[in-house]
Amino acid sequence: MATVAFIGLGNMGGPMAANLIKAGMTVTVFDLNPQAVAALTNQGALSAKTACGAAASADYVISMLPAGKHVQSIYLGDDNNKGLLNVVGKGTLLIDCSTIDAQTAQVVGAKAAEKGIEFMDAPVSGGTAGAAAGTLTFICGGSDVAYAKAQKVLTVMGANIFHAGQVGAGQIAKICNNMLLSVLMVGTSESLQLGIDNGLDPKVLSDIMKVSSGGNWTLEKYNPCPNVMDNVPSSKGYQGGFMVDLMVKDLGLSQQAALGSNSSTPMGALARSLYVNHARQGHGRLDFSSIFEQFANQTKK
Ligand code: NAD
Repeated sequence: MATVAFIGLGNMGGPMAANLIKAGMTVTVFDLNPQAVAALTNQGALSAKTACGAAASADYVISMLPAGKHVQSIYLGDDNNKGLLNVVGKGTLLIDCSTIDAQTAQVVGAKAAEKGIEFMDAPVSGGTAGAAAGTLTFICGGSDVAYAKAQKVLTVMGANIFHAGQVGAGQIAKICNNMLLSVLMVGTSESLQLGIDNGLDPKVLSDIMKVSSGGNWTLEKYNPCPNVMDNVPSSKGYQGGFMVDLMVKDLGLSQQAALGSNSSTPMGALARSLYVNHARQGHGRLDFSSIFEQFANQTKK
């Protein structure tokens, strides 16, 4: 059975690592937060005092960290940490599942290649529910060899695995998706509120739009209007799910990529502005479907 080092055991990494343990793999974990580590050792993981300690003899290293600066410091090292690239063997496959800027993924990938080590970016879609159920979508950027070797661990944690291209391509595909998702969420929210303001029941309106030309994923799976659907964040006070702060981060990444490639992304820019404003009003830790409240609250004033 494969040995895996798992670094970053938050909302996503915790359940992902748990699925590897359930599949019988030997998983050694590391996180700066001791409670996150304890949650995994209680489920059968081994733990290490540092990321390098966890990774030293692993077949696979998987990281699930907040942002590019964390990924860079874990792999390349800093004042507190030697850097995983300096401790793992050539046979270890490094897989970073965090959503970060493509440039950082490419810098880490190039440094790994200099040492003859395979590195792959494999950001995910599917949220915390997908992480727990083992049904995530992985969007991979890396060599054919890395992609083939990664199947053994990714198929345990996910249901759909795509090869988008070379290192960094996974990150680009991921932020294109999240930019579109934010635009759909904002558009769906304003449409539902327009209907409510004009006397429609949002459940009936949702049923109509779902099977009409405005139908989209947010209406089918993640309705932003409270009490239209069960078991979605909007019906649980916008708790859980995918935080506004993380959407703001991803929309910053898509705008950064657009600047670099001179792409025109007016809808993404507007969605970022709306989400930044929403976060600045103190909603950063709510689920991203809470953008609905911007439209609902304005109407009540
Ligand atoms: P999180 O904040 O819940 O978890 C991050 C974990 O990393 C924390 O436990 C933190 O202690 C740990 N960490 C930070 N720096 C570290 C370091 N130097 N060494 C070891 N551990 C460190 O975040 P999350 O929701 O799990 O998201 C992780 C990544 O996945 C982000 O890039 C996010 O954009 C992406 N993502 C999240 C979701 C979601 O629904 N939450 C969905 C898709 C993608």
